[in-house]
Amino acid sequence: MGPGGGRRVQPPGPRGSGARVLPAPTLSPMTITSIPLDLSFFRRFLDRATTVLVAHAAYLTDLDAAIGDADHGSNLKRGFGSAAQAVADAGPATPGALLTTVGVHLTNTVGGASGPLYGTVFRRMGKMLGEDAEVAPETLGRALAAAVASVRRLGDSAPGDATMVDALQPATDAYIATLGERQDTAAALKAAAEAARAGAEATIPLQARRGRASYLGERSIGHQDPGATSTALLITALYEATDPALCAVAPEPPVREEPAAEERAPGRVGVVLVSHSRELAEAAAALARALYGAGGPAPVVPAGGLPEGGVGTSPELVRRAVEEADEGAGVVLVCDMGSAVLTARTLTGETVRIADTPFVEGAVAAVVTASAGGDLAAVLAAAEDARTYRKVTG
Ligand code: ADP
Ligand code: MG
Repeated sequence: MGPGGGRRVQPPGPRGSGARVLPAPTLSPMTITSIPLDLSFFRRFLDRATTVLVAHAAYLTDLDAAIGDADHGSNLKRGFGSAAQAVADAGPATPGALLTTVGVHLTNTVGGASGPLYGTVFRRMGKMLGEDAEVAPETLGRALAAAVASVRRLGDSAPGDATMVDALQPATDAYIATLGERQDTAAALKAAAEAARAGAEATIPLQARRGRASYLGERSIGHQDPGATSTALLITALYEATDPALCAVAPEPPVREEPAAEERAPGRVGVVLVSHSRELAEAAAALARALYGAGGPAPVVPAGGLPEGGVGTSPELVRRAVEEADEGAGVVLVCDMGSAVLTARTLTGETVRIADTPFVEGAVAAVVTASAGGDLAAVLAAAEDARTYRKVTG
């Protein structure tokens, strides 16, 4: 994507709703529920969510290609595309059971971070809805609040990190606030959909702090988060489920921008993986290449073990690897430990630098950032940032 080329989300609809006049605010202290939040409502929601996510799969994947690994749309297409069958097999009798079935199914079928995260959203909401045949609007608000809390806990993420939380949190807040003011479920869901869409767009200027996009550091700025975008589509589907006429509108396929020709320096930063084990270095290189995201992988050269085989590090192997990885933009060495570090140190200079980072995480972060066209300082910083990824929180 070209400089400043953040893509904007254009979720479908609520088209045709421009002329739709929202019910006037009511002063009644009682909740007026124009649409029952019953099993048919949630079936309509799932159906609409599936249609819209499938129609937007290529778009979501494009967004993920810019800052991740180009699989968000296909991940969700796989999960939602088969969710209706999972629901048909389970035959849920209540809204809560339906959402729980979808959550379990998403966790089991969606690869990537979004699987467990969306799985949690649906399971948590399902649990909060309990056995009710018809859900009270306030209960839906509490379920959304519990869902966003569970995503934040699982992902160790907060608003402003440029993740799905940036759409889900404002949507939840808007739903609860609007329901409190207007006692109207459709109006509250419409406000939620608008807030989610605005939240997704607001991720464009943010630097990603969680998920794969965070490997890019500052280079993630200028791109809309794919997960926040799919959340905006999901919340919009929840609003559209209030009215079968809205659901009937075909989702407008979003405009797919032609990816701008990548503007890169003549060469990219090379990455050399120095390990005691040839197999480990080669496997880490394969993993990093598999996760590189957009643009084609930067040179990544494994230098593990001894030339004649066996465990150890060889200055000669590492020197040759540095030569091979050098395209003129510098080389970053990612080492496992001990003599790998000592060997690497003998080769460093102004354009050949060691990253102070754990081996696997550093290898992935360095390769992803180098592949995206980051310069030597950016690749070093991304690799060193990998030291700060927490695996246990709280
Ligand atoms: P992966 O990143 O594993 O390829 P997907 O591409 O399907 O998985 O999903 C990526 C989306 O998941 C991101 O755009 C972001 O919204 C969300 N995400 C990733 N990690 C986190 C996290 N720790 N907390 C909240 N959301 C996250
Ligand atoms: Mg992805």
